Amino acid sequence: MKDILFNKNFTCVAVSKTKPIEDIEKIYNLGHKDFGENKVQELELKHSSLPKDIKWHMIGHLQTNKVKKVVPLVSLIHSVDSLKLLKAINKESKKLNKITDCLIQINISNEDSKYGFSKDQLGFLNKNSLKEYPNIRIRGLMGMASFSSDKNIVEKEFHFLKGIFNELKKELTGFEILSMGMSNDYEIALEAGSNMIRIGSKIFGRRNYH
Ligand SMILES: *Cc1c(COP(=O)(O)O)cnc(C)c1O
Repeated sequence: MKDILFNKNFTCVAVSKTKPIEDIEKIYNLGHKDFGENKVQELELKHSSLPKDIKWHMIGHLQTNKVKKVVPLVSLIHSVDSLKLLKAINKESKKLNKITDCLIQINISNEDSKYGFSKDQLGFLNKNSLKEYPNIRIRGLMGMASFSSDKNIVEKEFHFLKGIFNELKKELTGFEILSMGMSNDYEIALEAGSNMIRIGSKIFGRRNYH
Protein backbone atom coordinates (compact mmCIF):
# COMPACT_ATOMS: atom_id res chain seq x y z
CA MET A 1 0.00 0.00 0.00
CA LYS A 2 2.87 2.42 0.73
CA ASP A 3 3.98 2.19 -2.90
CA ILE A 4 0.59 3.69 -3.81
CA LEU A 5 0.46 6.29 -1.04
CA PHE A 6 4.00 7.57 -1.45
CA ASN A 7 4.97 7.46 -5.08
CA LYS A 8 6.79 10.33 -6.70
CA ASN A 9 5.21 9.60 -10.09
CA PHE A 10 1.64 10.33 -9.03
CA THR A 11 -0.51 11.65 -6.20
CA CYS A 12 -2.79 9.26 -4.37
CA VAL A 13 -5.99 10.65 -2.91
CA ALA A 14 -7.01 8.31 -0.10
CA VAL A 15 -10.78 8.13 -0.45
CA SER A 16 -12.05 7.97 3.12
CA LYS A 17 -15.79 8.28 2.49
CA THR A 18 -17.90 6.28 4.96
CA LYS A 19 -14.77 5.47 7.01
CA PRO A 20 -14.34 6.62 10.62
CA ILE A 21 -11.89 9.22 11.89
CA GLU A 22 -9.60 6.56 13.42
CA ASP A 23 -9.08 4.91 10.03
CA ILE A 24 -8.05 8.25 8.54
CA GLU A 25 -5.70 8.96 11.45
CA LYS A 26 -3.88 5.70 10.80
CA ILE A 27 -3.10 6.70 7.23
CA TYR A 28 -2.37 10.30 8.26
CA ASN A 29 0.13 9.04 10.82
CA LEU A 30 2.07 7.32 8.05
CA GLY A 31 2.61 10.81 6.67
CA HIS A 32 -0.14 10.91 4.09
CA LYS A 33 -1.98 14.21 3.63
CA ASP A 34 -4.41 13.87 0.72
CA PHE A 35 -7.90 12.57 1.51
CA GLY A 36 -11.06 12.50 -0.57
CA GLU A 37 -14.71 12.71 0.41
CA ASN A 38 -17.89 12.80 -1.63
CA LYS A 39 -20.48 14.11 0.83
CA VAL A 40 -20.49 17.65 2.16
CA GLN A 41 -21.71 16.87 5.66
CA GLU A 42 -19.15 14.12 6.12
CA LEU A 43 -16.41 16.38 4.83
CA GLU A 44 -17.37 19.11 7.32
CA LEU A 45 -17.36 16.67 10.21
CA LYS A 46 -14.01 15.11 9.33
CA HIS A 47 -12.43 18.46 8.54
CA SER A 48 -13.32 19.75 11.99
CA SER A 49 -12.06 16.63 13.79
CA LEU A 50 -8.75 16.08 12.00
CA PRO A 51 -5.44 17.96 11.64
CA LYS A 52 -5.58 21.15 9.64
CA ASP A 53 -2.72 20.26 7.32
CA ILE A 54 -4.82 17.60 5.60
CA LYS A 55 -5.56 18.43 1.98
CA TRP A 56 -9.22 17.59 1.41
CA HIS A 57 -10.41 16.64 -2.04
CA MET A 58 -14.08 16.90 -2.98
CA ILE A 59 -14.63 14.05 -5.41
CA GLY A 60 -18.42 13.63 -5.47
CA HIS A 61 -21.22 15.43 -7.26
CA LEU A 62 -21.67 18.83 -5.67
CA GLN A 63 -24.95 20.73 -5.52
CA THR A 64 -24.66 24.49 -5.98
CA ASN A 65 -26.43 25.18 -2.68
CA LYS A 66 -23.64 23.35 -0.83
CA VAL A 67 -20.75 25.17 -2.50
CA LYS A 68 -20.62 27.75 0.26
CA LYS A 69 -19.80 25.04 2.80
CA VAL A 70 -17.25 23.24 0.68
CA VAL A 71 -15.10 26.04 -0.71
CA PRO A 72 -13.46 27.03 2.60
CA LEU A 73 -12.53 23.41 3.40
CA VAL A 74 -11.04 21.96 0.24
CA SER A 75 -7.74 22.06 -1.56
CA LEU A 76 -9.12 20.61 -4.81
CA ILE A 77 -12.60 20.03 -6.24
CA HIS A 78 -12.47 17.13 -8.73
CA SER A 79 -16.13 17.07 -9.64
CA VAL A 80 -16.99 20.28 -11.48
CA ASP A 81 -19.66 18.99 -13.85
CA SER A 82 -21.58 22.11 -14.94
CA LEU A 83 -21.02 25.79 -15.68
CA LYS A 84 -23.60 26.62 -13.05
CA LEU A 85 -21.41 24.91 -10.47
CA LEU A 86 -18.29 26.62 -11.78
CA LYS A 87 -20.01 29.99 -11.41
CA ALA A 88 -21.11 29.20 -7.87
CA ILE A 89 -17.60 28.11 -6.84
CA ASN A 90 -16.17 31.27 -8.34
CA LYS A 91 -18.66 33.44 -6.46
CA GLU A 92 -18.02 31.82 -3.08
CA SER A 93 -14.26 31.83 -3.60
CA LYS A 94 -14.39 35.53 -4.37
CA LYS A 95 -16.22 36.20 -1.10
CA LEU A 96 -13.43 34.41 0.76
CA ASN A 97 -10.75 36.10 -1.31
CA LYS A 98 -9.59 32.62 -2.29
CA ILE A 99 -8.60 31.02 -5.56
CA THR A 100 -10.06 27.52 -5.67
CA ASP A 101 -8.31 24.75 -7.58
CA CYS A 102 -10.76 22.71 -9.65
CA LEU A 103 -10.81 19.82 -12.07
CA ILE A 104 -13.39 19.53 -14.81
CA GLN A 105 -15.16 16.19 -14.68
CA ILE A 106 -15.53 14.53 -18.06
CA ASN A 107 -18.05 11.80 -18.72
CA ILE A 108 -15.97 9.11 -20.38
CA SER A 109 -18.07 6.05 -19.63
CA ASN A 110 -21.10 4.87 -21.52
CA GLU A 111 -23.11 4.56 -18.33
CA ASP A 112 -25.62 7.41 -18.33
CA SER A 113 -25.73 7.70 -14.55
CA LYS A 114 -22.29 9.28 -14.48
CA TYR A 115 -21.90 13.06 -14.15
CA GLY A 116 -19.62 15.23 -16.23
CA PHE A 117 -19.16 17.22 -19.39
CA SER A 118 -18.97 15.55 -22.76
CA LYS A 119 -16.06 16.36 -25.05
CA ASP A 120 -18.16 18.69 -27.21
CA GLN A 121 -19.15 20.81 -24.19
CA LEU A 122 -15.63 21.97 -23.45
CA GLY A 123 -15.63 25.15 -25.52
CA PHE A 124 -15.31 27.22 -22.32
CA LEU A 125 -11.90 25.71 -21.56
CA ASN A 126 -9.82 28.44 -23.13
CA LYS A 127 -7.94 31.34 -21.61
CA ASN A 128 -10.44 33.93 -22.74
CA SER A 129 -13.63 32.27 -21.48
CA LEU A 130 -12.02 31.36 -18.18
CA LYS A 131 -11.49 35.05 -17.44
CA GLU A 132 -15.13 34.96 -16.35
CA TYR A 133 -14.01 32.89 -13.36
CA PRO A 134 -11.06 34.79 -11.88
CA ASN A 135 -11.32 33.00 -8.53
CA ILE A 136 -11.00 29.56 -10.05
CA ARG A 137 -7.87 27.86 -11.26
CA ILE A 138 -8.64 24.95 -13.58
CA ARG A 139 -5.89 22.46 -12.78
CA GLY A 140 -6.94 19.59 -15.02
CA LEU A 141 -9.51 16.89 -15.62
CA MET A 142 -11.18 14.05 -13.74
CA GLY A 143 -12.95 11.03 -15.15
CA MET A 144 -14.35 7.67 -14.16
CA ALA A 145 -14.22 4.71 -16.49
CA SER A 146 -17.06 2.28 -16.95
CA PHE A 147 -17.44 -0.30 -14.24
CA SER A 148 -16.35 -3.12 -16.49
CA SER A 149 -14.18 -6.17 -16.22
CA ASP A 150 -13.25 -5.69 -19.87
CA LYS A 151 -9.83 -4.11 -19.65
CA ASN A 152 -10.02 -2.90 -23.25
CA ILE A 153 -13.10 -0.77 -22.60
CA VAL A 154 -11.54 0.83 -19.52
CA GLU A 155 -8.26 1.40 -21.32
CA LYS A 156 -9.99 3.05 -24.25
CA GLU A 157 -11.90 5.42 -21.98
CA PHE A 158 -8.77 6.47 -20.09
CA HIS A 159 -6.88 7.03 -23.35
CA PHE A 160 -9.76 9.15 -24.61
CA LEU A 161 -9.53 11.35 -21.50
CA LYS A 162 -5.74 11.59 -21.75
CA GLY A 163 -6.16 12.79 -25.35
CA ILE A 164 -8.48 15.62 -24.30
CA PHE A 165 -6.12 16.46 -21.43
CA ASN A 166 -3.10 16.72 -23.75
CA GLU A 167 -4.93 19.08 -26.10
CA LEU A 168 -6.08 21.44 -23.33
CA LYS A 169 -2.70 21.38 -21.63
CA LYS A 170 -1.21 23.10 -24.68
CA GLU A 171 -3.32 26.19 -24.11
CA LEU A 172 -3.97 26.44 -20.36
CA THR A 173 -1.38 27.39 -17.77
CA GLY A 174 -1.34 25.48 -14.49
CA PHE A 175 -3.29 22.72 -16.20
CA GLU A 176 -1.42 19.60 -15.14
CA ILE A 177 -3.58 17.23 -13.10
CA LEU A 178 -5.22 14.19 -14.65
CA SER A 179 -7.32 12.50 -11.96
CA MET A 180 -8.25 9.02 -13.14
CA GLY A 181 -8.07 5.58 -11.61
CA MET A 182 -9.73 3.91 -8.62
CA SER A 183 -8.99 0.74 -6.65
CA ASN A 184 -9.99 -1.62 -9.42
CA ASP A 185 -8.57 0.22 -12.41
CA TYR A 186 -5.73 2.48 -11.24
CA GLU A 187 -3.02 0.41 -12.90
CA ILE A 188 -4.70 0.82 -16.28
CA ALA A 189 -5.19 4.52 -15.55
CA LEU A 190 -1.53 5.07 -14.67
CA GLU A 191 -0.45 3.31 -17.83
CA ALA A 192 -2.75 5.62 -19.77
CA GLY A 193 -1.10 8.70 -18.24
CA SER A 194 -2.93 9.45 -15.01
CA ASN A 195 -1.00 11.44 -12.40
CA MET A 196 -3.62 11.42 -9.65
CA ILE A 197 -5.47 8.31 -8.52
CA ARG A 198 -8.39 8.14 -6.09
CA ILE A 199 -8.12 5.01 -3.99
CA GLY A 200 -10.69 3.99 -1.39
CA SER A 201 -11.22 0.29 -0.72
CA LYS A 202 -7.67 -0.75 -1.50
CA ILE A 203 -6.47 1.46 1.35
CA PHE A 204 -9.33 1.35 3.84
CA GLY A 205 -10.97 -1.96 3.04
CA ARG A 206 -14.43 -2.51 1.66
CA ARG A 207 -17.19 -0.04 2.38
CA ASN A 208 -20.40 -1.28 3.95
CA TYR A 209 -22.56 1.50 2.55
CA HIS A 210 -22.23 4.34 0.07
C1 LIG B 1 -15.61 6.14 -4.00
C2 LIG B 1 -14.86 6.84 -5.06
C3 LIG B 1 -13.54 6.47 -5.38
C4 LIG B 1 -12.80 5.33 -4.71
O1 LIG B 1 -13.37 4.11 -5.02
P1 LIG B 1 -12.62 2.72 -4.67
O2 LIG B 1 -13.15 1.78 -5.68
O3 LIG B 1 -13.02 2.37 -3.28
O4 LIG B 1 -11.17 2.94 -4.80
C5 LIG B 1 -12.89 7.20 -6.36
N1 LIG B 1 -13.49 8.22 -7.00
C6 LIG B 1 -14.76 8.59 -6.74
C7 LIG B 1 -15.35 9.74 -7.49
C8 LIG B 1 -15.49 7.91 -5.77
O5 LIG B 1 -16.74 8.29 -5.51
